[in-house]
Amino acid sequence: MSTLVPVLIVGGGASGMAAAITAASHLPQGSVTVLERGARVGRKLLATGNGRCNLTNRLAAEDRYHGKDPAFVRSAFRRFPVKSNLDFFYKMGLMTVEEEDGKMYPRSLQAAAVLDILRLEMERLGVQVQTDVEVRGIKKTESGFLLDGADLKTGEAKRWNARKVILACGGEASGGLGGSDLGYRLLKSLGHPVTARLPGIVQLKTDVTATKGLSGSKFDAALTLTEGRRIIRQEQGELLFTDYGVSGPPVMQLSASAARLLDSGRKAQLFIDFAPDLAQERITGMLTGRRKARPDKRLEDFMTGFVPKRLGQCLLKTAGVQPLSRPASSLSDAECGEVARLMKAFPLAVTGTNGMKNAQVTIGGAETAFFDPETMESRLVPGLFVTGELYDIDGDCGGFNLQWAWSSGRLAAEAAAR
Ligand SMILES: Cc1cc2nc3c(=O)[nH]c(=O)nc-3n(C[C@H](O)[C@H](O)[C@H](O)COP(=O)(O)OP(=O)(O)OC[C@H]3O[C@@H](n4cnc5c(N)ncnc54)[C@H](O)[C@@H]3O)c2cc1C
Repeated sequence: MSTLVPVLIVGGGASGMAAAITAASHLPQGSVTVLERGARVGRKLLATGNGRCNLTNRLAAEDRYHGKDPAFVRSAFRRFPVKSNLDFFYKMGLMTVEEEDGKMYPRSLQAAAVLDILRLEMERLGVQVQTDVEVRGIKKTESGFLLDGADLKTGEAKRWNARKVILACGGEASGGLGGSDLGYRLLKSLGHPVTARLPGIVQLKTDVTATKGLSGSKFDAALTLTEGRRIIRQEQGELLFTDYGVSGPPVMQLSASAARLLDSGRKAQLFIDFAPDLAQERITGMLTGRRKARPDKRLEDFMTGFVPKRLGQCLLKTAGVQPLSRPASSLSDAECGEVARLMKAFPLAVTGTNGMKNAQVTIGGAETAFFDPETMESRLVPGLFVTGELYDIDGDCGGFNLQWAWSSGRLAAEAAAR
């Protein structure tokens, strides 16, 4: 029979490492073990924030989180607010900088710095890290828990005994970076309800009939997501057209709302404002002015110099202006008005998301009602704790998901080490 580990953490990702450091700092050396199925801990962390790791957000509060009960984050953030997490990193040696919209990054702008700091601290505190091991089963025993799994390199079966277990397995998003449904399976086997999951913070698939020619182009735009006449969410930033739909920060930010709409069988529509700084009437006036100034110019070049050529042609075609070999003088006032209207509210039907494998976060997960928000401990299985993305909690894009990972991980560990 293997030795009884006081605190066993399944998953060496963001919340698992924060939990390991916190638990180890309260317990004698050798009391904390982390099991990680990847060849190294923190693989996903390296990919966060485009390799820069947007590790938290100064504005993190309950209203930036979603799920059945976003208020579940409240106690963790009261105990470990953003400032506390920044101090946690600062004490380990990590300097941070704030960029736009409250986003915090390591000063070096390298995600590797965050991971190195965490790894070094785990080493200093004597956390035992086992990599290439996958936990596949968990049972409650008299003394705690019995876990079984395998060494992924040798195929050899493995067993672990633990007094307390912290499940920090993360969500299903980005399978290529370690995302999987293993955590949900372990939870279900212990009788924990888990909601259906959807991809969040992900590119969107749209009807590309009108925008095919724009694939690869980027625009500063304002996006409005609607369901019928209802405005669901508005975001502004750099929009990227792709061969399947749209991407870029504003799309990622509103994608979770779109995924939820589509999943509930409702229609999701995007309206793109290509000129947030100009009113529609002003644009109409500019277009009629251009027509007057260069009446002979062919329509295919009519918009060039005002908006990128491909966008200009797309707007004219979508407005039903054809052929583009016509001279500018042939453009009617009504056509100028329609082009201006499209420039302010170009409609795109959202047909889906770009899938779980491309998503940054998982919507849905362990039902929070079955956990104590003050400790992250299961109300069904004493001694079992859950952290991070495994919960039915998803944060907005901008450092909110890692903020949740650090705070929930630290809170669970503090309670588990008690
Ligand atoms: C490309 C990308 C960019 C992102 N950028 C940001 C960002 O800039 N800011 C932000 O706030 N959030 C970002 N996120 C989201 C953020 O990374 C996650 O929400 C966060 O890492 C979740 O932490 P976690 O500890 O719950 O899970 P994870 O960090 O995913 O860690 C879970 C770990 O558990 C391991 N594991 C799972 N099951 C088992 C098992 N059965 N046995 C052993 N090991 C197991 C996995 O291999 C993994 O290493 C990004 C995500 C992606 C994919």
